[in-house]
Amino acid sequence: MGRAFNFSAGPAVMPEAVLQQAASEMLNWHGSGMSVMEMSHRGKEFISIYEQAEADLRELLAVPAHFKILFMQGGGLAENAIVPLNLSQGGAMDFVLTGSWSQKSLKEAGKFGTARVAASAQADDFTTLPAPATWQIGSDSRYVHICGNETIHGVEFHELPDLKALGCDAPLVVDFSSHVASRPVDWSRVGLAFGGAQKNLGPAGLTLVIVREDLIGHALPHCPSAFDYKLVSDNQSMYNTPPTYSIYIAGLVFQWLKKNGGIATMEQRNIAKAQLLYDFLDSSRLFENRVAQDCRSRMNVPFFLRDESRNEAFLAGAKAANLLQLKGHKSVGGMRASIYNAMPIEGVQALVAYMREFEKTQA
Ligand SMILES: *Cc1c(COP(=O)(O)O)cnc(C)c1O
Repeated sequence: MGRAFNFSAGPAVMPEAVLQQAASEMLNWHGSGMSVMEMSHRGKEFISIYEQAEADLRELLAVPAHFKILFMQGGGLAENAIVPLNLSQGGAMDFVLTGSWSQKSLKEAGKFGTARVAASAQADDFTTLPAPATWQIGSDSRYVHICGNETIHGVEFHELPDLKALGCDAPLVVDFSSHVASRPVDWSRVGLAFGGAQKNLGPAGLTLVIVREDLIGHALPHCPSAFDYKLVSDNQSMYNTPPTYSIYIAGLVFQWLKKNGGIATMEQRNIAKAQLLYDFLDSSRLFENRVAQDCRSRMNVPFFLRDESRNEAFLAGAKAANLLQLKGHKSVGGMRASIYNAMPIEGVQALVAYMREFEKTQA
């Protein structure tokens, strides 16, 4: 079997060129006589890899100078604790519930302070986004948390809320795990953004935190040192050993993004890929997507067979056609196609062709 089109939600498809480069550099990185995974994180070789990765990411995402980029560990879930440990100061936090991931964030933050629900789309089964004008944000709010892209429910903010325009001075915290680098970020509206690398940036093990400088240095006294943004920042993400190999691979992905036109080009490609799939779903008699049109995710497309007894046959046929990991998350069922940056349009075309054929033969 050759390389398949891989629709996994994460860890997910990687650019093939990056895998090839990593393979060719595996035993001896740039004549250093070592693999990257054998290098000291404090040696000049790895420092150069780290500095290049940081600079490339800053350029790609147009991160302003008054934001720090931290390379951490623990994934998005650990940040659900690390953010309140650093930002809550034991006070109240407001959460917009738009799916499983924001629900998890709310629950975890409640261990560290008062975690409140500002708005929720649960009554709509998380197929809509609550309009920012309806959010109930306390005047004592330490921060407002949203999940930019709900990986399981397939709901995405296509514009970040402007909290200042809502009369709110609290910083916005965005979980951008599953759509980072798929579109530009309006940093004027953001206090902190975090995400695990394994959806759209590289291998698991690396967590990205991009945080406004003034939000650093307020950790609760019992915050673990390795998770204190100030210590991490003051030590260039090397307070403890960072996930060196994951940073190296993510750095190769950043270079691949730059070579391929950067974030603006990625966004155009992602729009085209998502459109192709949603157009098919909307015209199908057998398949459906239930998310409101204006908040459909460009990255994760959940869909259902109207006749669920055909699910297994659908997945078996997909596998035979080299289309992998299409099973939906167990909490919602159905199917899900994750179409991150590294998924070429050919993959989405192949998926739509297969679904069209499946619909015909099953009619
Ligand atoms: C995958 C994901 C997470 C959890 O990431 P882990 O690395 O497993 O901790 C959190 N938030 C979102 C939006 C995700 O997609």
